Amino acid sequence: MKKHLIFLGPPGAGKGTYASRVEKRLGHKQIATGDILREEVKKETELGKKAQKYMEAGDLVPDKIMINILEKKLEEVEGGYILDGFPRTIEQAKALDKIADIDLVVNLNVPEKVIIQRLSSRIICKECGEVFNKLTLPPKEEGVCDECGGELYQREDDRPEAIRNRLKVYEKQTAPVIDHYKKQGVLENVSCKKADVPPEQIVDKIVKIIK
Ligand code: AMP
Repeated sequence: MKKHLIFLGPPGAGKGTYASRVEKRLGHKQIATGDILREEVKKETELGKKAQKYMEAGDLVPDKIMINILEKKLEEVEGGYILDGFPRTIEQAKALDKIADIDLVVNLNVPEKVIIQRLSSRIICKECGEVFNKLTLPPKEEGVCDECGGELYQREDDRPEAIRNRLKVYEKQTAPVIDHYKKQGVLENVSCKKADVPPEQIVDKIVKIIK
């Protein structure tokens, strides 16, 4: 079984949703840099204050900060893991080459129309970060997290202006990372052409590739 994984793809491709489900099924630890940053913002740490302005605008947090966060996280983790939201630039991918042996990069292909629909209806839990979707993955009770009972909210960067900017940033800075891993021979593409495909269907495909 492949151990050290990256889930790559534009915002709204489902990286987090699939990573948390693969973690439940196979035990690979999900490392989501966006979740780590949102936690820092919530706690109002120095790092959180620095990151917040980039995040709200849908821009990337500087590489130096992100590489630092990831290095520390990888030191703590034992066994398999899934990087969800890292690397997002060639610079980050090169830094990662030096500290990790990546076995598999799952590149999620999702049409832009589906992404915009998903992001604008996405809601997440203030307490545990679990992701829901008003259209495709609604919570059992409106506004309440199924997992922990926490309050659900729309991310600041899931509003239309920030979504547009995040997609631009993805094309310019993150899409080149796909080629970086294609050259290493570890890239596998997984497509999801429609918004209403149940997540477990995609997770099944990903689990087969990992095994
Ligand atoms: P995500 O939850 O993965 O969509 O991340 C939310 C936001 O956190 C992004 O739009 C960026 O502002 C920031 N972020 C997360 N991961 C990274 C990264 N690897 N490099 C730079 N910024 C990041």
